[in-house]
Amino acid sequence: ASGYTLLRDPHHNKGLAFSEQERDSHYLRGLLPPAFLSQELQEKKVMHNLRQYKVPLQRYVAMMDLQERNERLFYKLLIDNVEELLPVVYTPTVGEACQKYGSIFRRPQGLYISLKEKGKILEVLKNWPERNIQVIVVTDGERILGLGDLGCQGMGIPVGKLSLYTALGGLRPSACLPITIDVGTNNEQLLNDEFYIGLKQKRATGQEYAELLDEFMSAVKLNYGEKVLIQFEDFANHNAFELLSKYRSSHLVFNDDIQGTASVVLAGIIAALKLVGGKLADHTFLFLGAGEAGTGIAELIALEMSKQTKTPVEETRKKIWLVDSKGLIVSSRKESLQHFKQPWAHEHEPVKGLLSAVKAIKPTMLIGTSGVGKTFTKEVVEAMASFNKKPVIFALSNPTSQSECTAEEAYTWTEGRAIFASGSPFDPVEYKGKVYVPGQGNNAYIFPGLGLGLIISGAIRVREEMLLAASEALAEQGTQENFDKGLIYPPFTNIRKISAHIAAKVAAKAYELGLASRLPQPTDLVSYAESCMYSPVYRCYR
Ligand code: NAP
Ligand code: MN
Repeated sequence: ASGYTLLRDPHHNKGLAFSEQERDSHYLRGLLPPAFLSQELQEKKVMHNLRQYKVPLQRYVAMMDLQERNERLFYKLLIDNVEELLPVVYTPTVGEACQKYGSIFRRPQGLYISLKEKGKILEVLKNWPERNIQVIVVTDGERILGLGDLGCQGMGIPVGKLSLYTALGGLRPSACLPITIDVGTNNEQLLNDEFYIGLKQKRATGQEYAELLDEFMSAVKLNYGEKVLIQFEDFANHNAFELLSKYRSSHLVFNDDIQGTASVVLAGIIAALKLVGGKLADHTFLFLGAGEAGTGIAELIALEMSKQTKTPVEETRKKIWLVDSKGLIVSSRKESLQHFKQPWAHEHEPVKGLLSAVKAIKPTMLIGTSGVGKTFTKEVVEAMASFNKKPVIFALSNPTSQSECTAEEAYTWTEGRAIFASGSPFDPVEYKGKVYVPGQGNNAYIFPGLGLGLIISGAIRVREEMLLAASEALAEQGTQENFDKGLIYPPFTNIRKISAHIAAKVAAKAYELGLASRLPQPTDLVSYAESCMYSPVYRCYR
């Protein structure tokens, strides 16, 4: 290939880091200015440039440009500066990017499968340049973060998630495939936007929707085999639960909003117990929001409680209460409840509003998963503080604008007693001379390691036990030093190590359950996981 082509191939381009010998042997002479910059120096330069941008979206665009220009440098940056760059390529900035996707859109990333491709999805998959795909993240754009229906512009999410699979979990970039399924959008603003990139029609539903998804799921298995991991992402809950239950017994699938969230939040809860004391079963949980995240977390807590106390899950569920837009979920509402809410309809008189529910249930842990911001009001948080020495408060809705309360509010309204975590990041808070570090209950802790564990073991199905194993692995990574600052999640700086531990526990569970196809089982799964990880360091071209 010519040097010119090499410079335009993001998988191989090294820019000014091409050595003298490489410039000679690969026809690069004259196509580059004479200077040589090592990858370290390039990294320093790009980080410096990025920090000049004060607007987060500009940083996002710069990162996407880098990914398209020089993939290894992009991943080197992301891995070495993960705490700084995670909020750029992922929540909250990715949310804004999706909202404005039309205007920042330059070159298509990922694969678009719309209703127009019905009957041809297998051909579409074959148009993708890579053959050996290990992970697919797929969305239909109907519930992007807490931002609602963004249609085809939801593509930013699978793209962002997969770059974390590589940076945090060590999967090869070429093995990752972002997909957006476009069945239309109900977002009027997009439908009226002359620059909208997606199908300009109302969302397909019912049989038409089911058939397209079914063709997609079959085509993926046909083209990539049994061991390709499919992550469902940001589907609306009226489809999410159904898709998951339909395909979990025939494909290697999980839904990150339901299961990944559950696993990361359970890990935070297990770690929080070290600060507040008691066993899981000693606590009472109240959720604001009874959708994918809320009921997903609730179910995993109930399963873990059931495992620990050897009590049927039907019993342990009774420690967990949920509030939706109509109030506390109680048995008198059972007839009209969506099926995923029914296990949570306990005996209780009807209660309207979160504050009344908090007062009635007296939870020790309050978890926000409604997608609506500012709902943990001063009254709600003060009520939590009135009957708990150390109230556990998780404001999980994303992005930052939708957070139930801020870290500062949680700490000041509880006089520094809250154990707080949020979905989108908050800075540390100083309150009466003490610094509190809020944790980020970010799915990015779990899915990269979970995915790695499934792939290195050659797992063919995802089971709840694997999610519990992932939670335990993550909870074990907390340190006393961090707990002392109120921080229940480990810092992201060590995320690759954390991912390797999660991967090892997940893989071990896959072997134990007889769902692993990679035989024989490696003796040391942690070091095996680490040895499988992609390195972004430049390679020498001879
Ligand atoms: P979802 O399935 O649409 O569920 C939303 C739930 O919130 C529904 O039960 C809804 O009630 C309820 N709700 C909406 N407005 C409410 C109000 N004003 N008062 C009380 N309840 C209200 O959405 P989801 O997938 O669970 O996601 C919810 C949020 O969690 C999003 O912001 C998302 O970004 C965030 N999330 C965070 C993480 C994380 O931090 N790790 C992971 C996943 C999701 P009805 O059922 O009555 O409509
Ligand atoms: Mn999501």
